[in-house]
Amino acid sequence: MINFLDIPNIEDRLEHIRAFISQTCKRSGRPEDSVELIAVGKGHPPETVRLVVEAGQTLIGENKVQEAKAKLPLLPQNTRCHLIGHLQKNKIRHALPLFEMIHSVDSLALAEAVNRIAGDDGYFPKILLQVNVSGEDSKFGFDPEILEREMEPLLALDRTEICGLMTLAPYSEDPDDSRRHFAKLREIRNHFNEDFDIDLPHLSMGMSGDFEVAIEEGATLVRVGTSLFGPRVRKNK
Ligand SMILES: *Cc1c(COP(=O)(O)O)cnc(C)c1O
Repeated sequence: MINFLDIPNIEDRLEHIRAFISQTCKRSGRPEDSVELIAVGKGHPPETVRLVVEAGQTLIGENKVQEAKAKLPLLPQNTRCHLIGHLQKNKIRHALPLFEMIHSVDSLALAEAVNRIAGDDGYFPKILLQVNVSGEDSKFGFDPEILEREMEPLLALDRTEICGLMTLAPYSEDPDDSRRHFAKLREIRNHFNEDFDIDLPHLSMGMSGDFEVAIEEGATLVRVGTSLFGPRVRKNK
């Protein structure tokens, strides 16, 4: 993959990343517009994130509720934000008005709490279920077998729209190491669609190091921070 950080100007970098996403879709036999880029702004100040929003990249991702809450009012009105990091129950009420989608719902209890608070506060949240496909115990996410057992109560939540699945591949120098994890997420999604007679459209997978592989394996949302914004200014994982 190209090192996008060799491109000095952030707007040019954005353009190259978007073109690369379209090309990768085409090469994989997918429609060019079947993958949406999420510009991950965590650890970068609003002045930096604003540059990409003004250049047409209106979808951003943040991993912390507090950081998003502070940053979003300083960004253009048409900015859309997805929560990609772990959500604590005591932040749900703050999160609902900020995020167009929550990628990180990783337990039935959390989904039930989101649904209940959404009812109290008048929201109909869109969520993704985060799955720990690699079995690494340091990661958040549903164990695939537990998720299968809990799909029925999850699908029964009355205010919460389950839009698909999300995963993080374990860190590796070689992007191709992520492939089997991404393929597994796709297989789990396909199997749920069949078994529960549903249509989960989204697979959120792929970051700066492995989004090309993720697109080849069916990602619809890729979460790119470092390749677009450069190394993070503040310490933030
Ligand atoms: C930080 C983060 C990203 C982006 O990572 P980069 O390697 O900087 O592209 C993607 N997804 C999640 C969940 C993250 O926390």
